[in-house]
Amino acid sequence: MVKAKCPECGADLDLQDPVIREIVECPDCGSELEVVSLEKNKVELKIAEIEGEDWGE
Ligand SMILES: [Zn+2]
Repeated sequence: MVKAKCPECGADLDLQDPVIREIVECPDCGSELEVVSLEKNKVELKIAEIEGEDWGE
């Protein structure tokens, strides 16, 4: 388990087995977050750039 912080809302996330470029969803604000760096016990996330047309209903 690795700790990460949501850059959008600041919530603490627990990631099981993060991989660089993996997209995870913040359980708090629902933002899609991309894993940009991995260190021993720390993961850095950024807001994922969503491409495509998923915004419409
Ligand atoms: Zn969040």
